[in-house]
Amino acid sequence: MTMTTLATVALTVAPLPYAYDALEPYISAETLHFHHDKHYAGYVTKLGELIEGTHYATMPLEEIVLSSDGAIFNNAAQAWNHVFFFEQLSPHAKHHPTGALRRAVEDTFGSTDELKRRMTTAATTLFGSGWVWLATDRDGRLYIISKPNAGTPLSDDLTPLLAIDVWEHAYYIDYRNARKDAIDKLWNVIDWSKVDERYIACLNCNMP
Ligand code: MN
Repeated sequence: MTMTTLATVALTVAPLPYAYDALEPYISAETLHFHHDKHYAGYVTKLGELIEGTHYATMPLEEIVLSSDGAIFNNAAQAWNHVFFFEQLSPHAKHHPTGALRRAVEDTFGSTDELKRRMTTAATTLFGSGWVWLATDRDGRLYIISKPNAGTPLSDDLTPLLAIDVWEHAYYIDYRNARKDAIDKLWNVIDWSKVDERYIACLNCNMP
């Protein structure tokens, strides 16, 4: 399989990194078919139409997110956010951070359970569509950030570590209007070993 990275996916639909039914019973195959093949792929297609013939056409996706606004930003950020979101889910998820991230979580929030509670509350109370993020700054500090629509902490010069998609399309087929139930169940498939990796990569890239 070809490695797909966020730097190269601007006009490529990154394949789902597991089977469509791999996250059942927490996320159904039907939801993943719609979420990946229709919603996420739709953002990639729309972005391609919008940037054709512009200076964005040859840019890596993250650069487009950082340098655009309006419809191009919305579709580029949604494409980036979805690759990031799908990549952190796993049928073999580790449920707690380890090492440096575990220490940072305990220093900041007291415990992983408390961090999950606060992110769940942020996701439940975010009005309308958007994303709730765990992000880190250049000093390794942690932040929970709510963003409407396609919003991303990349725009605040923060590095995303974990994303919760609170658009209705992420949960409506399985959970209807019960967003809190959907988020509570989502924790079962959020793979903290991936979040650990992202945090370590960020600490390393910020070393002088
Ligand atoms: Mn989504």
